[in-house]
Amino acid sequence: MLIDANDLTPGHVLTSQVCIVGAGAAGIVAARHLAEQAIDVLLLEGGGFEPTPESVDLYRGSVSGAPLAADGPTDLTTNRLRYFGGSTNHWGGFCAPLGRNDFATRPWLGINGWPIDDEMLAPYYERATEIVGLPHTTFDPMSWPEMSTSPPLSLDHPDLVWSAGQVRPRRFGTEDRASIVDSARATLVLRASATRLDLAPGSDRIESVEFASPAGTRLRAVAPIVVLAMGGIENARLLLASNQVATKGIGNEYDQVGATSAIT
Ligand SMILES: Cc1cc2nc3c(=O)[nH]c(=O)nc-3n(C[C@H](O)[C@H](O)[C@H](O)COP(=O)(O)OP(=O)(O)OC[C@H]3O[C@@H](n4cnc5c(N)ncnc54)[C@H](O)[C@@H]3O)c2cc1C
Repeated sequence: MLIDANDLTPGHVLTSQVCIVGAGAAGIVAARHLAEQAIDVLLLEGGGFEPTPESVDLYRGSVSGAPLAADGPTDLTTNRLRYFGGSTNHWGGFCAPLGRNDFATRPWLGINGWPIDDEMLAPYYERATEIVGLPHTTFDPMSWPEMSTSPPLSLDHPDLVWSAGQVRPRRFGTEDRASIVDSARATLVLRASATRLDLAPGSDRIESVEFASPAGTRLRAVAPIVVLAMGGIENARLLLASNQVATKGIGNEYDQVGATSAIT
């Protein structure tokens, strides 16, 4: 089902078993999967099916500290896309598994590193290759038929390891649109920008999401399970902005939400 937040009256409350905020790769895939399991899911997306100046404007922000890339943009609206499909509307589609090094603790950063490692993710890669529609279900090039006629160079140094990637820029915003909109279990609300998360009284459980239409109409989504899928920066922004009860922001008791390093 499809709803436009512009058509809802002020104070309208939507309820569901699960509420997902943000319809990029993460939000769309999660919503599709839950709906297929006969779970009612509400998917709040801040943009529409196409970018508009008013939607892009909400992503505005400047980059300070380390640049995004040596010659990269200094404005946060250049790279991130704020409409259905999120940044996969222009991503490159290069896919590769994370390696052990990606999770390694780096003592010079003064923080503890990731609470997960590569082995915890390993069982999920095959499913991810199918979701993106990659040509191969493994990232071991030796198992790819085409490698039998063109074997890779042999590496006989312990510090050198093979790493293989595959490319398919799946456009979730168009390729997966019908599976969400036509689903009896999924409700997509466009132009629905989450503005605040509210905790259940006396608890640290999120019980509802306040969202707003472009006209500023305040609306609410209520669900026992809320999934944040707005991308790395926006997830942190919303948690920090939700400081009415948890005064440092939700989940931010240790001042880590949105922090990239302890170096000042
Ligand atoms: C130019 C470019 C090239 C890239 N190439 C690659 C690549 O080759 N390989 C690779 O692995 N990755 C690549 N990436 C990164 C990849 O696109 C992102 O990691 C991926 O899109 C993240 O998905 P996501 O669902 O977490 O977030 P996003 O795609 O950012 O989606 C977030 C969604 O949430 C919505 N939203 C935001 N705020 C709110 C709010 N307050 N309320 C409601 N909705 C909200 C947005 O409109 C958006 O639809 C690239 C990125 C860019 C910009």
